[in-house]
This record gives sequence, structure tokens and C-alpha cells, in this order.
Amino acid sequence: MLLVELYSPDRLAAARRATAEAGLDALLIGPSADLRYLTGYDAHALERLTLLVLPADGEAVLIVPRLERPAAEASPARSVGARLVDHEDGSDPYDIVRGLLGDRVKAVGLGDRMWAEQVLALRDALPDATQALAGAVLRGLRLRKTPAEVDALRRAGRAIDAVHERMGEWLRPGRTEAEVAADIAAGIRAAGHATVEFTIVAAGPDGASPHHGVSDRVIRAGEPVVVDIGGAMPDGYCSDSTRTYCIGEPPADFAAYYAVLHEAQRAAVAAVRPGVTAEAVDAAARDLIAQAGFGAAFLHRTGHGIGLDGHEDPYIVAGNATPLEPGMAFSIEPGIYLAGRHGARIEDIVVCTAGGVERLNTIDTELVIL
Ligand code: ZN
Ligand code: ZN
Ligand code: ZN
Repeated sequence: MLLVELYSPDRLAAARRATAEAGLDALLIGPSADLRYLTGYDAHALERLTLLVLPADGEAVLIVPRLERPAAEASPARSVGARLVDHEDGSDPYDIVRGLLGDRVKAVGLGDRMWAEQVLALRDALPDATQALAGAVLRGLRLRKTPAEVDALRRAGRAIDAVHERMGEWLRPGRTEAEVAADIAAGIRAAGHATVEFTIVAAGPDGASPHHGVSDRVIRAGEPVVVDIGGAMPDGYCSDSTRTYCIGEPPADFAAYYAVLHEAQRAAVAAVRPGVTAEAVDAAARDLIAQAGFGAAFLHRTGHGIGLDGHEDPYIVAGNATPLEPGMAFSIEPGIYLAGRHGARIEDIVVCTAGGVERLNTIDTELVIL
């Protein structure tokens, strides 16, 4: 019942209107979060063509490989109004596209993450149509989450919080980052996620690399450990949360900058309300970190939007003057990274509300000493 609430025909209707407003005749969307957003279908990206053909003024058709048809039928695609058409191995699926759109179309929007071989095949199939990015059309729809979507992100946030709360079971001196990450991955699934998207366990100097991942480094007592984890729930909505831990007392220099980071993250969360720009939220964290002398050590943007993609609009970054609106959901994740020594990051997902902000990760942001 949750899937029905999330995936309704409204999204296809809104996408048709936005397509027409953008001066496009149709959207062509392959396996991606865009496809899932529009139809609820979580398709595999394969060399075989899966493609939603959505004319601005006509019937939505989901073209699928014949062997994927049962999966497509099990998805909400048909109930939201997409007709399924399959193609068998050895036939040319681009003929189907040509038959549906033919010479009627002069401009099409292609899914932003479509494979180049498909982009070029579609150019050949529809030689009279100019190609543009569908993201320009769909971004505006996906940017503001509906209450049902916020609820989905809230469930994802609670699920990943529950994993962080178990960290003391796994994070112990003498274990490797990879061993801890394997336990965390099982914990992410046990907490209700369908997929594990990433498990960063970065101990000591590894913590100075924001996207470290994991290694066979043995975690030692007294080392700060950055743990950034996330996955996708069965409905497709994502979690993403970072906490920094220390096994035993942290080094004195680390404790000093962690306090700065903690203040900066809180300040950025507190800055969120309708009308405030994305870049002002970035500045709320960055200014405090810079004033404390760590400006150069905060080497990435403050955050990214989240929904069916782990990273999507709005980006919380200098230069993004987009005013926040209720329903926009994004991370607030400042970090401080000292090369060769250690690092720290604190990340919560928040949603802009009519009255200000709601944190979707609600566990404490103090340094956790295990
Ligand atoms: Zn990241
Ligand atoms: Zn993260
Ligand atoms: Zn993130």
C-alpha cells in the first residue's frame, strides 16, 4: 500500500505537463532513478533496451526485453498508466521507438544517465529530433518531496540511525576496516534496507580521505573512525548518515576540531528554512570552520539532495542560489580532514519544512567514544 501511495499516475501527468512546457515532444527514460520515480519500476541497466517512451500528449509505453517482462509486470508501472511492450533477443527495439514516435517528434528529452550507445542509437532512430537532457524537466518534479516521499525518507533515516546505534558491537581495536564494514552491511540489511549502497569505515589517517571506502587497515585504540553508511529501502528511497567514532580517548588536536565541526553542522541545520538559499546553508557551516582556521581542511560542499538517488538536487554548495522550499531533502555533512593524521565528518539528512527544518537522522551528533 505504501508503493501505491508513492507511485501514482500523478507523476506521469506532471511529467507530461513539464515536458510540454519545456518545448519537448517526448521523454525517453532508461533504467535510472528517473524511471523509478515515474513508474515505480526498478530496472536493470543492460545492453538490452529498457525505455519509457513518454510523449507530452500521448500514451506512456514502457519498452522492456521479453525476459524482463515479468519483473516489469510486478512493478507499479502498469498501474500508473504505462503500457508494456516487449522485444525479443535478435529484434531491433529501436524500431518500436520509431513506430511509437516516428516523424511526429522534433525534440526529445533523454534520461541524464542513459548509456552513450543508446543515446546514439536513438539519434539514428529519430533523425529529425533534437536531443536534450530530461533532467531539466524532471529535476523540478523530484526536487520537492511529497509528504509520502518525506515519510519514505524518514523511514530510511530511522533505519540507518538504528545501524549507527549498533556500532559498539562491531567497531573494536584489532579488527580491520573491511571486517567492520561487512558487519555494518549486514546490519544495514537487517534494519530494513533492500540494498547497501556504501560503507565507508575510515580509521586514523584513512579518515582524512572523504570517500575512502574500506581497507585491510587494522583499527587501533585511540584512532578516530569516520563511518559513512547508506542504502536504499525496498521502496527505493535512500539513507545516508555519517558519524565519527573514537575507540578510547581521542587525540587532543582531534577533540579540538571535532568541537568546531559539531558547532558548524548544527549551525547549518539551524539555518534551513524556506527562502534561505542552498549556498547560505553551505556558508553557515563553512564560515565557522574557516574562522577556526580549518577552512582549507573542509574540502567538499556541505551537502547534496537525496531521494531515489543518493546524490541529487539540491546541492548545498557555493554558487547555488536556489531558495529552499518545503519538501526539499538534503544532507548536511561538513567535514574536516587533516592529511596523514585523521579526519571527521558529521552527516544528517534534513528536510525543509514550512516552519523550518526536520532532521531525518535524529541520533546525537557528539563524538561517540566506544
Ligand atoms: Zn559523499
Ligand atoms: Zn554520506
Ligand atoms: Zn552524503
